This record gives sequence, structure tokens and C-alpha cells, in this order.
Amino acid sequence: MPKPDIRDLTRPELEAALAALGEKPSHAAAVFGAVYRRGQASLGALEGVPPRTRAALAGAFSMPAFSPVEKTVSSRDGTKKLLLRFAGGAPAECVVLPGKGRLSACLSSQSGCACGCSFCATGRLGLLRSLRPSEITAQFAACLREAGALSSVVFMGMGEPFLNWENVKKAISILSDDRGYHFSQGKMTVSTVGIIPVIKELAAGELKVKLAVSLVASDEALRARLVPMDAKYPLREVVRAVRDYCRARQAQVFFEYILFDGRNDSAADAAKLLELIKGISCRVNLIPQNTAGAAASQAGAARAKDFQKRLIAAGVRTYLRLEKGGDISAACGQLAAGN
Ligand code: SAH
Ligand code: SF4
Repeated sequence: MPKPDIRDLTRPELEAALAALGEKPSHAAAVFGAVYRRGQASLGALEGVPPRTRAALAGAFSMPAFSPVEKTVSSRDGTKKLLLRFAGGAPAECVVLPGKGRLSACLSSQSGCACGCSFCATGRLGLLRSLRPSEITAQFAACLREAGALSSVVFMGMGEPFLNWENVKKAISILSDDRGYHFSQGKMTVSTVGIIPVIKELAAGELKVKLAVSLVASDEALRARLVPMDAKYPLREVVRAVRDYCRARQAQVFFEYILFDGRNDSAADAAKLLELIKGISCRVNLIPQNTAGAAASQAGAARAKDFQKRLIAAGVRTYLRLEKGGDISAACGQLAAGN
């Protein structure tokens, strides 16, 4: 059995592990500081940790170096896509996205995705495997090195975060830990295709991360065709869970709605969406479907603007997302590790 990677542990878990080794749990803070804040790479030489504790940790845990970023591709608009490869050859892509004077990191929660949405390149890959907490935080570290500083993190890369939730939660804990990366949970957004039990957990829990839900479409039959998970977690039930979440947390949710040219971007579709989300404190992100290579039609672009206007007129904060990184397949739903 290989020794477990110490970077898969949250600080409370590390405290418990230290106690089990007969060491002081409080040394976990110094270990975190050495590993995450100062980037020290050897368990036997962690600064600020007593030699006996270091030796105990080195006996129980490992901290193998991650492979260097395999590929970095830069887009004309400043978007950068990094390809990392983890144990067993599992690829994970993460993206640094430029905004108005700010940079965001878009992280993957899984290598591939089991959900199989027909319009999504990651979905077409299938699930290779879920990523470990250390493999998620390693993407953050790679994006941070690339960007210098980050203003927000979105879990909108490859995979369905709520189907790898235990590991994503641990990664969030390590990223936000004041001895870890000290990156505020309020600046993180987790996006889901609508895994209801986890939406309920978030509603009842303490995490401060923001929630984004991929409605994709407002017509039930169309969504059922596009999103296989809809069979298990149907649109109306997802929206009901979101409504309860917003009420319980006094929070706003982000809805992602994909504009499929000529299929769900009419005035009637906008009215249907408004009806569906009525009364929910939300912001709608309209994402014109990214199709590798093919340019959006002019009529489609006009319908997208009109769709946005209708939502805004009804009092819903709505952003029409301009495609970022389209020329390097780093746009939403295009992450497929070069496939
Ligand atoms: N699995 C989660 C997190 C991945 S986020 C989720 O689905 O929410 C990926 C986002 O990109 C989702 O909002 C998804 O609906 C969107 N997306 C996927 N394929 C797309 C495409 N071809 N064009 C535009 N958006 C797409
Ligand atoms: Fe998975 Fe999200 Fe892509 Fe659907 S859209 S296949 S849930 S990553």
C-alpha cells in the first residue's frame, strides 16, 4: 500500500492524524503553512515543524511531486488553458480566465464526467476518474502561478463537482484554510447539473461557496433530451431545491442557461424561463452554445440579445456570456484534454 498523500487531508483531518501518531495536533498549522504557503516539497524538511513530528509524518504520509503542467495554451483573449496529468495518466484541465481587471481560475473536479450531457465535450469523454483533493488544489496552485493573483475560483471545468463532493469539499477546506491558501469561500462558485441531495446539504450547511445550477434549458422535454441526469433529478425538482436553498441561506444563485441556436432562444422560451425561476433571487448567465470551430449565426446572436433583454425587462439580472477561449477549446463544455 502506498502511503497516503498528506495533501489530501484537511487541517482537522491532519490534526487527528497527528494525534493518532502521538504528536501534537497543533503542529498541523505549521505543516499547512510550510506546504501551502511556502510550497515546501519534502515532508522530512518542513520548516517550523519539530524534527520528531516531521519524521512521524514522513513515516505515515507521502507528498510526491506532481508532473509539471503538460501543456499551456493561450487564447487571443488572454484565456489560458493548462493541462495537468495525474496518477494513472488521468488528465485534468484548468483555465485562467481574464475579466475586468481580475483573473478567475476554472477548476476540474473530475477527469471526464459520467453525466453524458450531449452538448458537452467533457460529457462525451465519459468518466475517467474522480480527482483527489490534492489534485484539485494542485490545479489552483498551477493557475495561481500562471496568474500571479486570482480573484475568484469556479468549479466549472471537467466533471460534476457534486458527484465528487467529499473530495471537492476537502479541496474547498484546504483552499480556504487560513493556514492553507487562505482563499475566501465567498469567492468560490460550485456549478452543478442539479444533484439535489447536495443542493439540500448546502442549504442546511455552513459552507459559504456560491452555487451555480446548469438549467441548460427551461423546457422539460428539451432538457430531458440534453441532460441525462434530468431523469434522476428533473428540472422542476431541481428548481424547487434551489428555491429552498436561496430561502434558507438568504443567498443568490446563478443559473446557467445555454442558448442553442434556434432551439431554445425564442421569446416564448424566455417567458418559460421567467416562469420557471419566478421569485428566486438569482442571476442568469446566458451561454451561447460553444460549438468547436463553427461560428455562431448572426440571427442567433440577435436572438441571444433579445432573450437577454426580455429577462432584464422582467427584473432578472442577466449576463450574456461572451465566449472566452473558444479558439483554444477552453470555453464552457469544451474541456476534453485534447480529444
Ligand atoms: N458539471 C457541472 C460543472 C461543469 S460546468 C455543470 O454541468 O454545471 C460546465 C458548464 O458549461 C455548465 O454550465 C454546462 O451547462 C456548460 N456547457 C457545457 N457544454 C457547453 C457548450 N457546448 N456550450 C456552452 N456551455 C456548455
Ligand atoms: Fe458533466 Fe457538466 Fe458536461 Fe453535463 S455539462 S457532461 S454534468 S461537465
